[in-house]
Formats: sequence, structure tokens, C-alpha cells
Amino acid sequence: MNTHQNYETIVIGGGPAGSTAATLVAQQGYRVLLVERDAEPTFKIGESLIPATYWTFKRLGMLEKLRSSHFPQKFSVQFFTRTGKATNPFYFFETNPHESAVTWQVLRSEFDQMLLDNASEKGVEVRRGVSVRRVLFEGDKAIGIAAQNGNNLETVRGTVIVDSTGQRSLIGRQLNLNTIEPNLKKASLFTHYEGGHRDEGLDEGATLILHTEDKDSWFWSIPLPYNRTSIGVVGSLDYLLQNRRGPDGKLNAQKIFDEELEKCKPLMQRLNGAKQLFPIQTTKDFSYRASRIAGENWVLIGDAFGFLDPVYSTGLFLALKSGEMAADAIVEAFQENNFSEQKLGCFGQSFIDGMESFRKLVYAFYTKEFSFARFLSKYPEHLGGIVDILSGDVYRRDVTHIFPDMSKTCYFPPEMPLEQASH
Ligand SMILES: Cc1cc2nc3c(=O)[nH]c(=O)nc-3n(C[C@H](O)[C@H](O)[C@H](O)COP(=O)(O)OP(=O)(O)OC[C@H]3O[C@@H](n4cnc5c(N)ncnc54)[C@H](O)[C@@H]3O)c2cc1C
Repeated sequence: MNTHQNYETIVIGGGPAGSTAATLVAQQGYRVLLVERDAEPTFKIGESLIPATYWTFKRLGMLEKLRSSHFPQKFSVQFFTRTGKATNPFYFFETNPHESAVTWQVLRSEFDQMLLDNASEKGVEVRRGVSVRRVLFEGDKAIGIAAQNGNNLETVRGTVIVDSTGQRSLIGRQLNLNTIEPNLKKASLFTHYEGGHRDEGLDEGATLILHTEDKDSWFWSIPLPYNRTSIGVVGSLDYLLQNRRGPDGKLNAQKIFDEELEKCKPLMQRLNGAKQLFPIQTTKDFSYRASRIAGENWVLIGDAFGFLDPVYSTGLFLALKSGEMAADAIVEAFQENNFSEQKLGCFGQSFIDGMESFRKLVYAFYTKEFSFARFLSKYPEHLGGIVDILSGDVYRRDVTHIFPDMSKTCYFPPEMPLEQASH
């Protein structure tokens, strides 16, 4: 085992959360190492951005790069009811007549690499093909990482350790911090298509969310570059996977996907003549949250802290936002030479307050009796609040005023408070 030099910050995982935190800390002159398990850019799910990512991209110096990319521009999200009826699109510029109302649909292999290249340009030492086995602790204090680099197991020491390993959730698993959202036990099946129908003009880059006939599942349709469209279906774990095993106990993901698509006529029509590009991928148990966001000399960001649900495309935004908030906390920690849980996790409560608005709207979406169209015909004054949440404006505007009326139809679970270490 080799033991290496000391870094001021070590970021584990080169997804959007990790790149963001690493870049913003390095920009303040600190020595940052980012290690990413994958040696090459790879396919990842999570391809639709929401407008509020604009402000983090601005700080990262990414806006020009995104504007000159080939990623389709996204102006809206549109929902389809179980009967196949298209509801009015929610255009983000309706409440926000600013350039930040336009966002992008991204191929993750390219997008994540752009963020990593940007991190390198801003002074981060990026090492690909290095898989962290565990975070090293002295008592409660994180002191470094043990990482596999080819055949070598290396120890690298760092003052602050940032866990941005996504659903791998390295520290969360090591310290047993994660709890599955009990009412959001979902699974998803997805692939890419080439060809198929796209709307024109402003709606060409829209995300579509389409209920299936019995409302037991829903599809996303996300237009991507190269004339590709990302198509995925989400339903409860029992409905989509557990109860669909064949007599041999095996799952046929393609068969399940096709059966669900049959129940979603508007999407079938759009995919008429389109070619499926790779076998159906499956994921499950993706909705969980860690009970703590930081500890002595460590902090969790992005999916490593928690993930809600794919329906409103909030995952990338929350990854970027938590990366940004954590970076500010880390810089302050260095300035004050204080790497306590309180200092590094000082952003935790405001971060989860924003997440809570998304969470409530997710619960509304899964309430069978709820529909945006019905809600807005009864309470038209809440259109702005809904568009603000769909845009991700949960940290810049007060959006919570819509929930008392929504709670007349929808059950909202109690908030999940943050805990601190018990000493
Ligand atoms: C079905 C589904 C659909 C989704 N759709 C959307 C969407 O449309 N829009 C959206 O915004 N979000 C979506 N999401 C969520 C989104 O994918 C995630 O929230 C987002 O990728 C989180 O970013 P991250 O940087 O935290 O983690 P990740 O993007 O997962 O990055 C983590 C990185 O850490 C690396 N890593 C892991 N373990 C180690 C290790 N031990 N050592 C070194 N490196 C390691 C991984 O290789 C990876 O590159 C979706 C999620 C699901 C499940």
C-alpha cells in the first residue's frame, strides 16, 4: 500500500455534485483532488435539467459551454393524463422572464465530462479509474481515503472528505445512515430510442411526463442530441418488478417495458418507427436519505446524501446545489480552521427545506385522485407556485403557500429531520 500526499479537500466521485464542489473549492485557491471510479465517460441516467441549475452553472463558468453545446434547449415540461390527454405545458418563462428560464437536456457521458474538464481547468486534480474502497476515520474524524488504483491500494490523506459517490453512497453505507423513503419504493426501466416524433418550435426540447392508462406507472420522454430520445417508465417496486416475475422467478425487463408502453398510447404513437438503441436497463430503491449531512471533516452531497424521485428532474439540480452549498461551507471551514459537523453541515437545514417542497409535489403526483389540471382549475392562483417548483426555484422564492390547499387532496409525510452525531 502506498501512502500519498495531503490534500486540503478530497472529493470522491466525479458526477455533477462532485465536480461542482471540487471546482468551487479549488477556485478559492485550495488544493483539491477528485477521484472518479470510471476510467472513461459512461452512460448514466438523469438527463433532464431544470432552470434553477443556471445559477450554479454561472458560478462554475459553465454557461457559455452549455450554450454552445449540441444539447437540446428545454423551455417546458408537459404532463399527459391517463386518458392520453395532453395538458397545457408549464413554460418556465411564465413566471421567470429571464434567460435562466431556458435549460438543457443532456447526454450524461458528455455532460459529466464537460463538468470534469471545467474542474481541471479551474485547478482541480482529477484522477479517473480510481475507486475508493473506504473513507478512513480516526475516531469520528475523517482523515483520508483508501483507494484502488489498478493493482495498487493507495492511502491519500485530506483535511475535508466530500462524498459524492451518488447512489453508491460510500459514507452513508459505511456509517449506516440511509433510510429508504417508505412510500416511494419505486423501480424504473429505461432505454434510448433513435427517431420518433418530436413537437416543433418551443416544444421540441420539452420533457414529457405521461401516465399509463391505469395510472400505476408513468413514462418520461426526454429529447437528446443525435436524434435520440430517452424513454423510461417508473412504478412501484411491487407493481413493476416483484409481481412480474416469470414462473422461473426471472424478470423479463423488455417484456415489462413493452407491456407498460402498450398502456401509454400517446407515447406509442410518438415512438412509431423509432429504433430502440440498447437493452432495457433496470434500477430500483433509489429514493432514500441520509440522517446526517456532515460530520467531523466530512460532508455528503448529491445522491450520496439522498435522492427523491425522477418525476420532476430535480436530481441534477439538487446535486449541483448541494455541491455549491457544501463548497461554501468548506471554504468557510478553512477560513475559520473549524471542520466540525456544525460548520461543514451548516447548509443542511436550508438544503432540506428546499428539498421538502419537491418532496411534497412528488407525493401529490403519486396521489391517484390528484391532477395538476383539476388543482389549477380550482386554485388558478397557484400556477406560479407550481411553475416555480418545476423550475427548481425553491431556494430563491417562497413556494410553500401552495401546500395547504394541496393537502386537502394529498397526503404529505412528516419531514425527515437532520440528526447530529451523538457523543
Ligand atoms: C430512473 C432515474 C431517472 C432520473 N432522471 C433524472 C432526470 O431526468 N433529471 C435529473 O436531474 N435527475 C434525474 N435522476 C437523478 C440523477 O441521475 C442523480 O440525482 C444525479 O446523477 C446525482 O448526481 P451525483 O453527482 O450526486 O451522483 P452521480 O451522477 O451518480 O455521480 C457519482 C459518481 O461517483 C462515482 N463513484 C461511485 N462510487 C465511487 C467510488 N467508490 N470511488 C470513486 N468514484 C465513485 C460514480 O462512478 C459516478 O461518476 C434520475 C434518477 C433515476 C434513478
